[in-house]
Amino acid sequence: RSRAHRVEKQFSTTSLSDVAGIESAKRDITEIIDFLTNPGKYKALGADMPTGILLVGPPGTGKTLLARAIAGEADVPFFSISASEFIEMFVGVGAARVRDMFDTARKEAPALIFIDELDAIGRSRGAGFGGGHDEREQTLNQILTEMDGFEGHESVVVLAATNRPDVLDSALLRPGRFDRKVTLDMPHKEARKAILEVHVRKVPLDSSVELGEIAARTIGFSGADLKNLVNEAALTAARLNLEKVNSDCFEHARDRIVLGEERDAELTQ
Ligand code: ATP
Repeated sequence: RSRAHRVEKQFSTTSLSDVAGIESAKRDITEIIDFLTNPGKYKALGADMPTGILLVGPPGTGKTLLARAIAGEADVPFFSISASEFIEMFVGVGAARVRDMFDTARKEAPALIFIDELDAIGRSRGAGFGGGHDEREQTLNQILTEMDGFEGHESVVVLAATNRPDVLDSALLRPGRFDRKVTLDMPHKEARKAILEVHVRKVPLDSSVELGEIAARTIGFSGADLKNLVNEAALTAARLNLEKVNSDCFEHARDRIVLGEERDAELTQ
């Protein structure tokens, strides 16, 4: 097959310690990690693991991060596609990529497949998407066919991420497909503090920095926003030629993210 149809195998070095503030989701996935680590244990007991798991949560809450952490912890190959990439493709390419990805994952099993933005192709059918024969639908059908082919005893786990579970075609949610759901919520204050702790690991902090205080002042920030905040604060320190990142840098970074870039000029003048 041509290279356009191939989905590259990746290895993940992400661990669960890189994921913070979504403790219930982390608990939900420990069994998946155990299954991918010891598929033989489950086989011996005649236990079938669920093949498909839906990761549901707003943008930036760590769905991709969690998928990578599962692959990293279980030390299995990771195959990843974003469903939105199929929208613009020629008919047949998406389905071929899906087929190729599942074939390779089966050969490499135990393995993890990650489908990002599932809603981009997984929307309820017949919702005005041209005749029912378009690329989107073919790709979706291929995913369903592949998952139905698992018959419960293959050690390939398929994770799919979405922030719109409400629009998904009910065919995707049937038993044997994405029949389990793991929810990732926007982080509350303690969770934001824990996420900040992960992202300041390599950042030298001045004693003026109080992560609990920053967490209290970042209501509405996702994990991705908090990562961005730490980086903006470090960039501000660099611009000011500081050796450590201080609380003013965080304050400035927060304002910059909340209010846009208008404040930037003032501080660097
Ligand atoms: P999207 O729906 O926009 O694809 P997502 O839920 O997949 O978002 P990620 O891409 O995993 O979110 O998050 C982006 C980055 O934000 C991560 O690589 C990580 O650095 C940081 N991040 C997000 N959530 C967390 C978290 N819970 N703990 C630590 N870091 C996080």
